[in-house]
Amino acid sequence: MKKYICVILSMLFILISVTGHDTISASVETVFICKSGTSYAYHRKMCSGLRRCTHKIEEVTVREAIAMGNGKPCGYCYRK
Ligand SMILES: [Zn+2]
Repeated sequence: MKKYICVILSMLFILISVTGHDTISASVETVFICKSGTSYAYHRKMCSGLRRCTHKIEEVTVREAIAMGNGKPCGYCYRK
């Protein structure tokens, strides 16, 4: 019986570490930004907001988008 508890505990531990890893990978999720200089949002996909972009569209991570001043999630593609 003790063996089972040990297995369950280690499974739980793996589950927790996997969930924790997901949180980290969310900040390195790739998004799209319009390098117009006036844009302030990042996009999850090619949405209508991004299609209006007449400048260079760049695929970056969320972290990079924030660093470039595009730290706001787009209202179209991040609408719940
Ligand atoms: Zn968008």
